[in-house]
Amino acid sequence: MSIPSNLPLRNDLAGEEPYGAPQLDVPVCLNVNENPYPPSPAVVESIVERVRQIAPTLNRYPDREHMELRRALAHYLSKESFVDLEPEQLWAANGSNEIMLQVFQAFGGPGRTALGFAPTYSMYPEYARDTFTAWETVPRKSDFTLDVDAAVKAIAEVKPSIVLLTSPNNPTGTPASIEEVEALLAACEKADVEGAPQGAHPLLVVDEAYIEFRRPGKPSATTLIDKHPNLAVSRTMSKAFAYAGARVGYIAAQTGVIDSLRIVRMPYHLSAVTQAVALAALDHTDEQLAQVGHLRQTRDDLVQWLRAQTYKGTPLTVADTDSNFVFFGVFDDRDFIFNRLLDRGVLIRDVGPDGWLRVCMGTDEEIAEFKKAFVEVLRLAE
Ligand code: PMP
Repeated sequence: MSIPSNLPLRNDLAGEEPYGAPQLDVPVCLNVNENPYPPSPAVVESIVERVRQIAPTLNRYPDREHMELRRALAHYLSKESFVDLEPEQLWAANGSNEIMLQVFQAFGGPGRTALGFAPTYSMYPEYARDTFTAWETVPRKSDFTLDVDAAVKAIAEVKPSIVLLTSPNNPTGTPASIEEVEALLAACEKADVEGAPQGAHPLLVVDEAYIEFRRPGKPSATTLIDKHPNLAVSRTMSKAFAYAGARVGYIAAQTGVIDSLRIVRMPYHLSAVTQAVALAALDHTDEQLAQVGHLRQTRDDLVQWLRAQTYKGTPLTVADTDSNFVFFGVFDDRDFIFNRLLDRGVLIRDVGPDGWLRVCMGTDEEIAEFKKAFVEVLRLAE
C-alpha cells in the first residue's frame, strides 16, 4: 500500500488496508467459504444463452429495478423457505456485501450505531466505517451461541439503528433459532433509535448468507417478514448456489425497507449481464443446489473427525455448525498450524478469536488432502 501524503484521503482511512483474505495460488483453497463444485453444464449453457440474448441490448442501461430477477428470487424463496413474498419485497445487488453497504447507507450514518454479536463477520465494521456509523458488539457465549439476555439489554441501552444477526454465524457456523430471532425482534420493536426521529425502532437485519446449509426443518427468518416491518433478511448466491464469481446477493423485507435501499443505490447498480447470469442459475435451482446435501454431510463428517483429533494431548474443540465451514481450536499458536498447512498446499483461514481456525468444505479429495496435512501438522506441534 502506498498512498502519498499529498492526497487528501479521509483522515479516518489513513493507515487502513483493503479488506480481503489472501488469494494464493495453492492446490487446496478452503479459506473463503466458497462452494467447491462448479456450475453444471446445463447452467453454463443457460448462462451463455441468457447473455447472448441481452448482448445486443448492451448499448442501453439495464432495468434499474431488475424486476425479472426479483420475481425469480421470490419464486426461489417460495420453494426454499416456504415463504410467500412479492417481487417488490426483494432487492438484489452485487453480492450481499453491496446489499449490506446499502443497508448501512440507508439506516446508519453519523450519530447512529449498528450492533452485532461477536465474534462475527469481519466486514461489518468496514461498512460501519465507510458510512460513519458507530459499530458495537455484544459478546456471544463461550459456545458462540447468542446471549439473548445481553442482546436484548444492549438493544434497549445502545438504541442502535441496525441490529445485525448473522445466522448461521461467520466464522463460527452457529445458527440462531427462530425463537432467538423473535426475541431480538421484540426487543427492537420496543427500543428507540439514537439519532432517529421519535417512534423509529431498530432494523433487525438477519444475514442468512449460509442458510441453505442449515439442518433440515429449521425455518428461515424470511418466514417472519410478513409480521415485522423492521426485519430484513439478506442472502447470497455466492455460497450454496455456487455462484461467488457472479456477485449476486439479495435482501427480503417489507417494501418500506426495500424503498429505503432504493434511495441510496447507484442508478443501474446491477448490470444487464449480472441480471442475465443470475436468472440463468435461477432457471436451474435444483442442479445449482445439488451439492448442498453432500456438503452438509462432508461438514458433519469433518466435525466428527476433528473432534477425535488431539492437539498437545487435548481433544480439539469444534463449534457446532449449520454452515459450509467448521471453526475449531484451541491452538496456543494458531499461526504455526496455519502456516504449516500452507506449506503443504492447504489454505484455510485464521480469523476470529485467537487460537481458532476456520476451514470451509471442499470436494471429497480436497477434504482428504486437508485431513492428511492436518494430521502431519498436529504431529509437528506435539
Ligand atoms: N455475509 C456473510 C456472513 C459472509 O460470510 C459473506 C461472505 N464471506 C457475505 C455476507 C458476503 O457475501 P457475498 O458478497 O459474496 O454475497
